[in-house]
This record gives sequence, structure tokens and C-alpha cells, in this order.
Amino acid sequence: MSIASVIVDVPAKQTDREFDYLIPDKWKSIIRPGIRVVVPFGPRMVQGFVTGIKESSDLKKLREIKEPMDLEPVLNDELLQLGDWMTEQTLSFKVSALQAMLPAAMKAKYEKNVELTDLTSFDRMHEDVRSLFKHRKTLTWKEMLEAGKPSLFHKELQNGNLEVVYYVKNRLNKKTVRHVKPLLSTEELSEALDSLSASAKKQRQIVEHFLHAPESVSLKNLLEIVHSSAAAVKALVEKGILAEYDEEIYRDPYENRSFEETSAFRLTDEQAAALGPINAAVDAERNDIFLLYGITGSGKTEIYLQAIDKVIQNGKEAIMLVPEISLTPQTVKRFKERFGNQVAVLHSGLSVGEKYDEWRKIHRQEVKVVVGARSAVFAPFQNIGLIVIDEEHEGSYKQEEPPRYHARDIAIQRGLSHSCPVILGSATPSLESFARAQKGVYKLLSLTKRMNNSTLPSVEIVDMREELRTGNRSMFSEKLFAKLEDRLTKGEQTVLFLNKRGHSSFVMCRSCGVVINCPDCDISLTYHRSNHSLKCHYCGHEEGMPPVCPECGSDHIRFFGTGTQKVEEELGKILPNARVIRMDVDTTSKKGSHELLLNAFQEGKADILLGTQMIAKGLDFPNITLVGVLSADTMLHLPDFRASEKTFQLLTQVSGRAGRHQLKGEVVIQTYTPEHYSIELAARQDFDTFFEKEMEIRRLNHYPPYFYLALVTVFHEDLIKTVSVTEKITKYLRSNLSRQAIILGPVASPLSRVKNRYRYQCLIKYKREPGLNALLKNIINNFQQETAKGQLQIAIDLNPQMMM
Ligand code: ADP
Ligand code: ZN
Ligand code: ZN
Repeated sequence: MSIASVIVDVPAKQTDREFDYLIPDKWKSIIRPGIRVVVPFGPRMVQGFVTGIKESSDLKKLREIKEPMDLEPVLNDELLQLGDWMTEQTLSFKVSALQAMLPAAMKAKYEKNVELTDLTSFDRMHEDVRSLFKHRKTLTWKEMLEAGKPSLFHKELQNGNLEVVYYVKNRLNKKTVRHVKPLLSTEELSEALDSLSASAKKQRQIVEHFLHAPESVSLKNLLEIVHSSAAAVKALVEKGILAEYDEEIYRDPYENRSFEETSAFRLTDEQAAALGPINAAVDAERNDIFLLYGITGSGKTEIYLQAIDKVIQNGKEAIMLVPEISLTPQTVKRFKERFGNQVAVLHSGLSVGEKYDEWRKIHRQEVKVVVGARSAVFAPFQNIGLIVIDEEHEGSYKQEEPPRYHARDIAIQRGLSHSCPVILGSATPSLESFARAQKGVYKLLSLTKRMNNSTLPSVEIVDMREELRTGNRSMFSEKLFAKLEDRLTKGEQTVLFLNKRGHSSFVMCRSCGVVINCPDCDISLTYHRSNHSLKCHYCGHEEGMPPVCPECGSDHIRFFGTGTQKVEEELGKILPNARVIRMDVDTTSKKGSHELLLNAFQEGKADILLGTQMIAKGLDFPNITLVGVLSADTMLHLPDFRASEKTFQLLTQVSGRAGRHQLKGEVVIQTYTPEHYSIELAARQDFDTFFEKEMEIRRLNHYPPYFYLALVTVFHEDLIKTVSVTEKITKYLRSNLSRQAIILGPVASPLSRVKNRYRYQCLIKYKREPGLNALLKNIINNFQQETAKGQLQIAIDLNPQMMM
């Protein structure tokens, strides 16, 4: 007798454990750990992951596994263990951790049907129900609800004429393409050709085609070659000459592109000095963690490429992580050009099906390298030789919903399992990583010079308050405007960066100063020009733009702050001849548009590239000689202890877009707080001083990397309830943690109400609290009855990245 331990797809506290199921004899050879199965669970059928096989169970009565969903394990032993680790580290449900490692297409879809119990039950049912079951045995749940006779159905269900049946569906659909092949040998084909009547021209042509090219061909191509319709093919299939069949193919998002192969550059001395220790660790299969700290354009990517090449030569595989917004076609191209079809690419721009296909290439060991955003860290390779995280400081490596993992932690954990090195790369490392490198926990490798002998661009800071004082009310300072004009005459290109994070285009009354807020969330509504409306970006609430101020009745009510559209309009006025490409969520929402716009800019079809965060990274165009930052402050004032660090990183990244090649670059940063150290130091590209200064502030305020953080957030519609639950949690932690721990709260979260729910939080700062995870688990357990009902929600974020 064999028994499988199964984690069921019911993410709840009570079901967050292994359940035992009997393995039916017919599935014995297939069911192994890492296989997904369909199992009965209560009255339903659910998906589950087999995590182990054993010979006996403590339980007497076991139910049977209904069927396997895979023939090959989708999670190998290493990933199953990683799931355990991740569950513990992030305090998430085991099933959520396992699910997070698989592409979305493999999430189970459930279908609920109402079916006739047997054929005789049809006659016994109420007429009105019976009429719905004419010629059919099944209604979907939705059809039943739409029929609008709940009590009648209920009765039939109770007296056993109908039953509710659950199905677990695999959502993944493999893509197939119709193919045609000859069923006959060449001689037989020419005989067949003779037997065809002369009037069957198209059929003859098709047979002739296969006489010359007997291999199978897609129906589409065949029809193109012979200029025929499908009917002629059908006729030949019926005559037994040809066969039609479906061939499974991969959806390849890059299929229409060819990549020229590139070979490795000769490394500079600095690059060689950095690659040496990495290669040594790759060869020695040593789990070293490197921090590759190199200014923008210093040739980090080339080092990744050559290290990965080494890994492939050693017969192993590599994972290359890049933040979502840097995963530009340009970046992908560099890897495809070097490693051709040995590369799989995983990013959110792909359709669910495309992602699944890329995942399968990895799973079937058909590729050696995966380039992808956060979740690519779970690539199901068996034999990893290197993991690289570029721009390791990026906040997007942390997943903000359960399981709240950080890709850096996962990479380091997998590096340990595979006994391979991990490279963290950045021009502006996170304080956490740089501090570890200084302590020798990570091995520091530095690149201090830019490629092509190009120097870092010169950066000027413009005080916008001063501009206002001298009467310039435009969003462009005198200086930036002059430089823009200059570039236009010289035919050089400019990047204009608008920081859209933070509250930009809110509506304010100039007479009384009132700001229009969302009625459900305590944040300002955003003005949308296209339909002259106001929208909440947290809950989706939408209302018309009021003609007069709702508070004082003044008609001096305007939207404030600047969106990219507004800047584009302004540019049209002051530089009517400039050709502008705007890149923001609106212009890049269509698939492929991102790439089209960038290509157009690269081909010189525009003078100015205007955009948000998405243009801060990864651009490497030789003709960009000017970068303008329209307002550097928006991020500086967010309620987040990393605000200065993020501002510094962003300004450094944006500045790095200029002058990467022969032409020298200039940067203009406009700000209302020119004296702020993160702006000053970013302008000087002085990471080392910034690091020292910021570390001092973190030390004084007990923030990472001196302290660890844990954030508990409580959500409820009722304010008093929200506060009292947070209060209880805070008290519990205070009385159970050590005296070294600092517990802040309860306080309202920076976003204190979203979607009509209040948010209160408790922030824990600590150095060493071995009991913390257990205490947090207790909290989840204690409130479990209430949270299960859905009213109350408690979120726990260990090492939070987002403080909002
Ligand atoms: P980073 O990743 O640090 O921003 P890149 O690897 O993108 O830097 O390098 C910047 C530019 O220099 C790229 O255009 C790259 O192709 C080029 N490059 C990198 N290494 C070399 C080298 N050893 N010789 C010549 N060109 C190089
Ligand atoms: Zn007013
Ligand atoms: Zn809202």
C-alpha cells in the first residue's frame, strides 16, 4: 500500500499541512513527490501537490487520489525543500509558496457543475428543472444560477436527483499548429499523381510539392506555397494520400526576430580582475556571494555574460535576474545574441501561454540560461552553476503579496543548495548589501571606470524655487531649456525624466487650498485628462471633475502636479519643432509598443524621449547627451525610511543614461530641495559618501541594516476594531519579545484607509529575536477565526520593502 502526503490548494490556516491519500494501483508508477494531483477534499475536488510518499499513515480511513495532473514532477526535490524554507521565512501558507514557483498557467481552475445523478432521475425531477436538462446531463454552476430557480434546484439536490460535481481543470493549453504530411512513399505519390484527374489542379500541385519535399509542413505554409485553399488538402486527406495532425509548438515571443551572434569582448583590466574570482568560484562550485559594485556603464553586464558562458561550458545552467522595468528588448537582445536559443526569457509582458512555454523549455532542460524578472529565480533547473541579480537594490525583487519573498534571499538559498556562486550587481547597492560586503560576508568586486573611456556626465542642480522668484513659472528652468534648444540644433538626443511615483496630478483649489480626496481612501484623486475625470489609484473610485470647489465654491480649481501628457503639451509650445516620444503606462500598455517606441528613438526618429520610471534603466543609446530630471523631489517626501536611498538610486540611474559612448553627457536635475544630501550626492555620483551618511542616519534611528524590521498591518472596516486588534498585537509582542526589541504602534499606516478599510500597523525593530516567528505565528492563529470570515485581515511582512 502506498500513501501520498499532499498539500491541498486551499490556502487557509486549518488546511496548511500535509494530508494523506491512498495512491490507486493504476497511478502507482506515476505519482511521486512534485507531481500535482486532483484529490477529494470535503465535498469538492481540489488540486494538491504531492510532497512525499510513505508506506503507512496514522489515519485508518483514507480517501484515494482521483488522478494525477502531471506525468513528470513539476517541482524537483530542491524546489520542494525551498518551499518548506520559504514557508518558514515568509510565514506564508505552504501551498502559496509552492504555487509561487510555477507559472500562472499552472494554477488550477475549478469548475462546478450540476449533473443528473443517473438517467432515471431525469423523469423524477420537477418539470421546470427537467426542461433545462433536455438532451444534456450537465449544467455549469453559472447556468444553474442564471436559470433563477434556486429553491427548485435545492430540492432536486436534496432528494438526490441532481448532484454537484467539482472539476479541477488544468488551465494550460499547449499551443498546436495544424500540420500536413504525406502518407505514401515517393513512388506511391507519383502513382497517386497519375490517378488524379487533370482538372484537380490544386490537388496535383500539392502532391507535386510533397514529391519534392516529402517532409511534414504546416498547413498554413503549404497553402501559401501552392496558393490553394484548405479544401484541396481535405480532398487528399480523404483519399488517404495525406494526413493532417496537430503538432505542439512553443509560443515564441521572439520568433520574428533574428539575433546576430556576438562574441565576448576583450575585458578591461578592471573587468578581468572582477571576473577572476567569479570564475574561480564557478569552477570550484563554491557558494560565494559577490557584490559587483560598478558605476553605470562600467561593463557589469559583459561580466555576467562571460561568467554565464563559463557556466555553460562547465555543463551547468545559469539564472539571470533583471528588474521588470530593465527587462527591455535591448537587455534581452544582449543575452540572445550571445547564447542564441539556449536562453529562455520570463517577464510579465509575455502572455500566460508564452510564459508557460518558456517555463517548459527550462523544465525540459532545453535551455541553459533564463533571463527574467523576480519569479525567474524559481527556474526549475537541476544543475545551477551561477545566479546573477542585476540592480540588486531594486525594490521590485520583493514580492508584496504572500508569499512575501525577496528574490535575493531565494537566490542565496538556492546558491547554497546547488553549491554555486551568486552575483549581486549594482551601481547603487542597497545599504544592506554594501554593509555585508564591508563586513566581508559578501565578496566586494568594484568597477570604477566607464567603458569607451567615457566619463560620467556632468550634473547640475537647478533650484526651482529660485526660478519662481525670478518669474519663470514654466516647468522648465532657464538652464534646461537652453540645453534642450542646444541639443535640437546639434541633432543630439535628450531624455526627460518625470518621476511619477508619489501624488502628482491631484486637484487643488487655489482659493482655499482644499485637495479632492477619494471618499474611501485617504489619498488624493488623480486627474485624468482623457475623460476629464478624477480617479482613485488604490480602489478605482471615479468621479467627474467638479466645475467649482466643493468647499468654497471658487472656480479656481485646477489639477496640480505634472503628468507626462502635460509636459508633452508644454514641449509642443516652447519647442514646436522638437519631435517627442512619450513613454508611460498609457503609451506602452499595448503589447510590443514599448519596444516600438524605443526602436523609433534609437533610429533617431525623435529628439526627446519623455517618460517615467520605465526609462530610468537599461537604455544605452550613443546619441543621448542630455538628461533632464523635471522634479527630483516627488520621491523624497514619501513616508518611507528608504526615501533618500531610493531618490539617490533613481537619480544616479537616470543620470547614467547620458554620455555612455563617445559623446559627452550632461544632466540637469530640477528640484525644490537642492540642499538635500541625497540629491547633492547623486549629482556627484558619490555613492561612498552617501553610504556613510545614510548609514549614520539608519544607525541613529534603528533602521536596517542595523536593525531588522517586521511589519504587522491590520485591516478592518471598523476603525475601533482595527485599532483594538492592533493594540492587542502590540501588547502581546511587547510582553514577549526581548528588551532590545523596539515595538512601534499601534499607528495608522501611511495609507490609512484603502477600499473603505482602515489600516493600522505595528512595526517591530529588532536585532536578534529567535522567538519572533513563533510569536507572529501565534498571532495569526489567535485571530484565525475572525480572519477566516474575511472581515479582519492581518498581514505580516518580514523585512518589508514597502512602508506604505
Ligand atoms: P553596465 O552593465 O555596467 O551598465 P555594460 O555591460 O552595459 O555596463 O557596458 C557598457 C557598454 O560597454 C556596453 O555597450 C557594452 O557593450 C560595452 N562593453 C562592455 N565591456 C566591454 C569591453 N570589455 N570592451 C568593449 N566594450 C565593452
Ligand atoms: Zn476652495
Ligand atoms: Zn479610493
